[in-house]
Amino acid sequence: MKKVLLPRTLCELWRHWQDEPGAAIYAGGTDLLVQMRNAAVHPPALICLERIAELRGIETEGDGIRIGACATHAQLLESALVQQRLPILAQALAVLGSPPIRNMGTIGGNICTASPAGDTLPPLYALDAEVELCRRDGVKHMALQDFIVSPGQTRIDKGEVLTAIWVPKAEGYNLQHYEKAGQRQALAVSIASLAALLRLSAAGLVEKVRLAWGSVGPTIVTCPAAEEALVGKRLTLETLQQAAALVRQSVTPISDVRADAAYRRALAGNLLLRLLAVPR
Ligand SMILES: Cc1cc2nc3c(=O)[nH]c(=O)nc-3n(C[C@H](O)[C@H](O)[C@H](O)COP(=O)(O)OP(=O)(O)OC[C@H]3O[C@@H](n4cnc5c(N)ncnc54)[C@H](O)[C@@H]3O)c2cc1C
Repeated sequence: MKKVLLPRTLCELWRHWQDEPGAAIYAGGTDLLVQMRNAAVHPPALICLERIAELRGIETEGDGIRIGACATHAQLLESALVQQRLPILAQALAVLGSPPIRNMGTIGGNICTASPAGDTLPPLYALDAEVELCRRDGVKHMALQDFIVSPGQTRIDKGEVLTAIWVPKAEGYNLQHYEKAGQRQALAVSIASLAALLRLSAAGLVEKVRLAWGSVGPTIVTCPAAEEALVGKRLTLETLQQAAALVRQSVTPISDVRADAAYRRALAGNLLLRLLAVPR
C-alpha cells in the first residue's frame, strides 16, 4: 500500500514534497492511476492536489479568465463564465470522456498528461492560453504552446506544480466550433479533432481565424498557412478545400490501433470542411 498525502494548501504541499521528494502528484488520478495500474510508473508515494483551495476557482482576471488547475471538467462545464466566454472549451469538455471521468478529471491533469488527443488542448491552443507554474520560491508563466513539448512531456520542472491556466478574452469570434472524430460517437479517444475560432464580418468574410488540430502530430498542430488562406474570404467549399490541402501537408500523424496516418491526414482536412455545416 502506497502512502497518499493530502495537503490542503500549497505550503503543506511543499513540506510534503520535501519529506517525500520522489512522490508523484496527481489531481483526479484518471491518467496517473491508470498508468500505475499498467505498471508504467512506480512512484514511492502519492500527493493528491484535490484539496488545495489555491488550485481551484474559475474567475475573471485582467483581460481574461483564470482557471485553477484542479477545476474538474464537470465544474468547468457548469461554469457560466466558461459557457459564455469560452464556448469552444465547453464544447470540447462536453465530449471529454464520460460523466465519471469529467467529475474526477481536471484541466490541469489534461494539460500535464500532454497527450495530442487531450480534448481541452486544441481549444486552449486556439485561444492562446498560458500556464502558471508555481514552485516553493516563485511563480512563472508560459504560453501553453511552449509548455507542451511532445507526447507526455512538458516543460514542468521538478518541484513545480501547474497552479492555473489563464485564457485571454477571445477576440469577437462569432463562429466557435470543436469537433472530434473517434471510432464511435461517445466515450472515444479522438482520431483527429479540430478547434476552430472565426470572426466573420456582417458580409460573411473571414476577418480573423485560429485553428488547432488534435491527434494528428506529436503535439497539437496549428497551421498559419491555412489560417492565412481563409482570411478575407467567404467560407465556401472551395476556400475551405484550399485551406484543407495546406493542413494535410502540415500534419504529421502516426498510425495506431485507432486509425492509420493516411486516414488521419485526410480527416484533418475534412474536419475543416465541416465548418460549412456549423449553424451561423
Ligand atoms: C476511461 C477514460 C476515458 C478518458 N477519456 C478522455 C477523453 O475523451 N478525452 C481526454 O482528453 N482525456 C480522456 N481521458 C484522460 C483523462 O481523464 C484526462 O486527461 C484528465 O483530464 C486527466 O486529469 P486528472 O486530473 O485525472 O489527471 P491525473 O491523473 O491526476 O494527472 C495526470 C498527470 O498530470 C500530472 N498533474 C495533474 N495535475 C497537475 C498539476 N496541477 N500540476 C502538475 N502536474 C499535474 C500528474 O502528475 C500526472 O502525471 C480518459 C481517461 C479515462 C480513464
